[in-house]
Amino acid sequence: MKYVIVGGVAGGASAAARLRRLNEDAEIVLFEKGEHISYANCGLPYYIGNTIEERKKLFVQTPVSFGNRYDVDVRTLNEVTTIHRDRKVVAVKNLHNGKEYEERYDVLLLSPGALPVVPPVPGVDLPNIFTLRNVADCDRIKAQAVQLLEEQAEAVIVGGGFIGLEMAENLQKIGYKVTIVEKAPHILTPLDWPMAAIVQQHLSEKGVRVLAGNGLSAFEERDSKLHVILEDGTSLPCQLAILSIGVRPNVQLAREAGLAIGEAGGISVNSYLQTSDESIYAVGDAIEFPHPVTGKPYCNFLAGPANLQARIVAMNMVYPESTPYMGSVATAIAKVFDLTAASTGLSEAALQRAGISFQTVIVHPAAHATYYPGGSPMSLKLNFSPEDGQVLGAQAVGKMNVDKQIDTISLLLKHKGTIYDLIYSEHAYAPPYASAKSPVMFAGMVAENIMAHLMNPIQAADLDQLIDSGEEFQLLDVREIKEFKSGTIQGAENYPVDELREFLEDIPQDKKTVVFCEVGLRGYVASRILMQSGFENVYNLIGGMRTYRLVGKHNVKPQ
Ligand code: FAD
Repeated sequence: MKYVIVGGVAGGASAAARLRRLNEDAEIVLFEKGEHISYANCGLPYYIGNTIEERKKLFVQTPVSFGNRYDVDVRTLNEVTTIHRDRKVVAVKNLHNGKEYEERYDVLLLSPGALPVVPPVPGVDLPNIFTLRNVADCDRIKAQAVQLLEEQAEAVIVGGGFIGLEMAENLQKIGYKVTIVEKAPHILTPLDWPMAAIVQQHLSEKGVRVLAGNGLSAFEERDSKLHVILEDGTSLPCQLAILSIGVRPNVQLAREAGLAIGEAGGISVNSYLQTSDESIYAVGDAIEFPHPVTGKPYCNFLAGPANLQARIVAMNMVYPESTPYMGSVATAIAKVFDLTAASTGLSEAALQRAGISFQTVIVHPAAHATYYPGGSPMSLKLNFSPEDGQVLGAQAVGKMNVDKQIDTISLLLKHKGTIYDLIYSEHAYAPPYASAKSPVMFAGMVAENIMAHLMNPIQAADLDQLIDSGEEFQLLDVREIKEFKSGTIQGAENYPVDELREFLEDIPQDKKTVVFCEVGLRGYVASRILMQSGFENVYNLIGGMRTYRLVGKHNVKPQ
């Protein structure tokens, strides 16, 4: 059996290794048009920022070491240019000498990855505008970044996604003053605004300027300096700019070979990762696959799924239709200076696009027992179905233990778990690591209170709408007087929760009532007191002041 693989990094190299472990007798040829295989794309921003000091650390394997261990015929700087499906042959261009030749296959695997999106704006070909996709890009950026570094040197990152933010931190680390430009209303669009706002504020505190809701319109060169021009006319002079506005699946080879391309723009595959040609499989950034929650195909540009697909596809290439792939829920994480931001599943915007109804809770628990030194709070947002409690998505931001929460929820999401599963989840607990009640359980419990109608939630944006509408309602700040005086919400009256029972007769029962505290817990206690004392229309502000302060419109400054 002869297996031919196109692409030698996450999907391609992993599949080659697994193929060999499954079949010692097979002939395996791996084509990679670049110079390197099996390198750490995800580490590239950190090499630019000198966090990873030695370039060789980026290379998990060399073509020689990989070839020796797995008995794979590795051909770097060899680009597959055409697939002749009728003859089961690929045409290859040897980039060392420009010669073209053909290679026969029995089974072909495509893992050609994704291509960076380069917008067709004026000036996009000017010098010192970069995209970051591979080692060659990384070397170019690093060399230029060092050469252009001067006192007050500026860098502009166009695109505030995970990689854009990693680049912002790393360029600042080597001495650049960094601006992030984002066309969407906020950075990190896999996160909803209340979570992204925490990251945005942190970036400002760290001296990174964020210009959101303002897209790129052009690049210009003035006085021998690069200028990034935004849609509103703002001009940002800089030494270098990084275009990080996303990627698209690399499907040219597949399309030209007549393989089916799906509605999301990726190579169509069945659950065995087989394309529309039964002798050709595909994995990684180049494919699209139904999302386990929406059932709709989407492209998922992440290393974990590419590696898993590689393992599964090798099984199916050796034992056809043996191992189905279940899809990815897009679990992602990034370090942003002192914070970690992570997400899994669907954001509110994605749920709205998919027409799925949802409810949402935000909690701000401690990352571990508060009495043990060194802890810090995190924020966790859970999107779930109000019909049956199915978990639909989650996002977390904090200094520690964020990954733990998101990984737990991600596993549940894949198995169509519910908020009740979150409550029943178990975690390893001792004070230095966690609290007896984990943030995940805590979010599940708040969600359960909503499902059981023990609490009516109101989101910060909905409270703002209520205030703007002029509808009559009462707003009760149930924190301590000192907290109330440190800043509240327009129109709020202060009834500290511990004294609330004494004032019940002074508060009209027939009005719509919104209560809030710092994070939501005392608000819940207050709303239970009110609901059980005859108040019918009581709402608790989700995420409390900690969320409202960041995203609300009607903050009242300290008195
Ligand atoms: P790739 O790993 O990109 O490999 C595709 C290879 O195919 C390329 O080397 C390309 O040269 C080769 N190729 C293409 N066409 C041909 C051809 N015709 N002939 C021969 N060779 C060809 N994901 C995460 O989950 N977490 C992260 O922290 C993270 N950070 C990232 C940071 C950066 C800077 C980048 C660029 C990506 C990051 N990713 C991250 C995404 C992750 O690296 C990709 O999802 C993953 O590598 C996809 O694997 P793949 O095999 O589909 O494509």
